[in-house]
Amino acid sequence: MEIILSSPRGFCAGVVRAIEIVELCLQKFRPPIYVKHEIVHNPYVVKALEEKGAITVDTVEEIPPNSTVVFSAHGSPPDDFQKAHDRNLRVIDATCPLVTRVHNEAIKYNSEGKRVILVGHRGHAEVNGTMGQAPMALVDDTGPAELPNWDSDTPVAILTQTTLSVDDTARAVSKIQNRFTDALVRNDLCYATTNRQEAVKKLAEQVDMVLVIGAQNSSNCNRLREVAERHGVPAYLVNSAEDLKDEWLADIMKVGITSGASTPEVLVDQVISKLKPNKISTLNVIEEDVTFVLPQEFRK
Ligand code: SF4
Repeated sequence: MEIILSSPRGFCAGVVRAIEIVELCLQKFRPPIYVKHEIVHNPYVVKALEEKGAITVDTVEEIPPNSTVVFSAHGSPPDDFQKAHDRNLRVIDATCPLVTRVHNEAIKYNSEGKRVILVGHRGHAEVNGTMGQAPMALVDDTGPAELPNWDSDTPVAILTQTTLSVDDTARAVSKIQNRFTDALVRNDLCYATTNRQEAVKKLAEQVDMVLVIGAQNSSNCNRLREVAERHGVPAYLVNSAEDLKDEWLADIMKVGITSGASTPEVLVDQVISKLKPNKISTLNVIEEDVTFVLPQEFRK
C-alpha cells in the first residue's frame, strides 16, 4: 500500500496560538486554569492540556469566582465576558484573530445600518460567538437556505463561519445575492480551511480512498471528508488509528491522508504506523507561513 500525505494539513496558526496560550497560562498563573469550551475541537489536545492542569467547562457559570479562564479559539459572545467580569475572573481570550475579524465586521456593518446575514451551522461554538456580537440572521450553508423575510432592496452584509465548505458557502452566498439586490459579501472562510480543502481535492484525484484524521465535532474535519467524497473517492473521518476498519482497506492500493486544523501530527503518525505502507509521499499543494501574535499578557 502507498500513502500520499496532503500538504497543508493539521494545525493552523489559530490552533497553535490557542494551545500556546493555555500552556503559558498554566506556567504563569499555575493550575487550575479553566478553559471555556474545548480549547480546540480535538480530544487528544484537550486531554493533554487537562493532564497539565487545565479544566474544560461548557459555561462561565461553572467557574469558581476569582479564577483564571481561557476563552477558546472559536470566539465567545459579549455575554460571556460580562458573566466572567461579574465573577471576577481573569479572562485570557484565545479567540483566533480571523474569528475576531468576523466579529468586528458584524459590529461595523450593523452600526452602518446594514442587516447582517451569517452563513454557518446553528449551534457551533463559533456561530454562537459571532451571533452574540450584533443582531443578525443565520442561514445554513447546507440545507435549503431559509432566507430572512426582508425587503429585497434591504442593504445586507453577508458574513460566514470560518470553517465551512468553500463550495457550499459559494452556493449559499449566491442564493442570498439573488434574493437581496444590495448585498455586500465578505469572504470569511479562513486560509487554513480554504487551503486544506483545495489540497484534498487534488489528493482525491490521485488516491483510492481518503482518511481525514480529526475529531467528529470538528467543522473543518467534517468538511474535508465531504469534499474528498464529492471528488469521487470513499472518505472517512477518524479520531485516531484505533478507528480504522479493515473492510475500508480491502483492495485499496493508494490511501490519501489529510488532517483538520485542530489535529496534532502525532495522530497522523499513528495512523501511518498502523497502515504499514510500502511507500509514503507528500502532495504539496500550497505553502503556508501564517503566524499570529500572542495576547498582550504574553508579549515580551
Ligand atoms: S481554522 Fe481558521 S479560523 Fe479556525 S482557528 Fe484555524 S485559522 Fe483560525
